[in-house]
Amino acid sequence: VWDNCLAFIKDNIQPQAYKTWFEPIKSVKLTDNALSIQVPSKFFYEWLEEHYVKLLKVALTKELGENAKLVYIIKMENTYGNKQPFTEKIPSSNRVAMPAQEVDVPVKHKNPELKNPFVIPGIRNVKIESQLNPNNNFENFLEGDSNRLARSAGLAVANKPGGTSFNPLLIFGGVGLGKTHLAHAIGVEIKDKYPEKTVLYISAEKFTQQYIESVKKNTRNDFIHFYQLIDVLIIDDVQFFSGKSGTQDVFFHIFNHLHQNHKQVILTSDKAPVDMQDIEQRLLSRFKWGLSAELQTPDYETRISILKNKLYRDGVEMSDEIVEYVAKNIKSNVRELEGAIISLIAHSSFNKKEVTLELAKQIVEKFVKNTKREVSIDYIQKVVSDYFQMDVSTLQSKTRKRHIVQARQLAMFFAKKFTKASLASIGSQIGKRDHATVLHACKTVDNLAETDKQFRKYIEDLTKKLSL
Ligand code: ADP
Ligand code: MG
Repeated sequence: VWDNCLAFIKDNIQPQAYKTWFEPIKSVKLTDNALSIQVPSKFFYEWLEEHYVKLLKVALTKELGENAKLVYIIKMENTYGNKQPFTEKIPSSNRVAMPAQEVDVPVKHKNPELKNPFVIPGIRNVKIESQLNPNNNFENFLEGDSNRLARSAGLAVANKPGGTSFNPLLIFGGVGLGKTHLAHAIGVEIKDKYPEKTVLYISAEKFTQQYIESVKKNTRNDFIHFYQLIDVLIIDDVQFFSGKSGTQDVFFHIFNHLHQNHKQVILTSDKAPVDMQDIEQRLLSRFKWGLSAELQTPDYETRISILKNKLYRDGVEMSDEIVEYVAKNIKSNVRELEGAIISLIAHSSFNKKEVTLELAKQIVEKFVKNTKREVSIDYIQKVVSDYFQMDVSTLQSKTRKRHIVQARQLAMFFAKKFTKASLASIGSQIGKRDHATVLHACKTVDNLAETDKQFRKYIEDLTKKLSL
């Protein structure tokens, strides 16, 4: 009977879905018109009920008639001392008029470990903390024009996790602009307001490692199950998922489950969804369901207030002149701003003397120089395409339109000049070109710089922008 059902199902869904959700099922027994099937986990059962209950009903009715019943048996390896596999019988829901079997009322939490959402069953018998840093809170996340939208969206989410249309909330922006801080702040605030909620902060990198480990240890289902028990999931730097299709796939399932159950998902990324590369379309479209809020580089006023707040919290006094000097000269991100002021504080306490403007100049100069060396190829592409008022994707496209080709060649030229990347690596990052193309671009730019006045102006302007 089950084989016939499978054949029918196979014809009606995507091969990948069939492989994932139906191949692992075992038919156990058939009594009268009730078929018992064994599924690998509770999550599996829920997924089938959520997505395939109609299909299952049709398939089963064809085989067993109108009164067909389906009983799920959930099999879980009990890894906690007792080697007995633990099974739990759950009748199929009658949501779509599939008659439920009356015996075996769903036994919730028969496995004691599953009661505690902080335990990854089968992976590791350890408690998982929220991993939040209480020092990153809203109070010390200073507001400014550059972060107002993201900050207030974060507050809204913290007040009603899962209950706003900001789900997922995606916070994006460049390095050191406060993504991680804000993501923690939201989690900290939720924990404060709703102590009973399970909040988990995790970097995309760590999530990926855990996933890979679970695949190796054959505990993928437990991994998924664990994440589905979380009320507020915060994943930092999701750009790390790019090109990792297995992780994207598992995250997609987890995301869907959480979202359907009105659980809150908060993500951060160094790029807007439209600019993310090697992330599956179906994930990108999920990212866009909620709100994407950008953190921009802070303006002068915000930089001043961040610095003053930092000094105040550290109990350090510094003249306005110096604070203003630092804020004027360090513009690119908050991390550097903080770095410079910490360095100043350290110098003054080490030498037990007041910070002079002279010292401030030296230190700031050091920071500014370091920044220059750290210009990334992404950043160069962004600056060049902004300058020519085109999208980065246009700059990278295959088109041979003259002004786009020129922009692309300039980006390659600056990547060679301002980064340590190899020609091959520059080529692959700027629209998947080879190293010869990059070399040719650099030569062309050199030539044009000598012969074309307009072109020389482009180079001067861009050099200035990139050196800021
Ligand atoms: P990102 O994750 O975007 O790279 P972080 O969240 O790590 O950046 O922020 C870098 C540093 O700047 C952190 O020490 C953070 O506390 C600080 N910071 C960023 N934005 C603000 C802000 N608006 N107010 C106060 N501190 C901030
Ligand atoms: Mg970060």
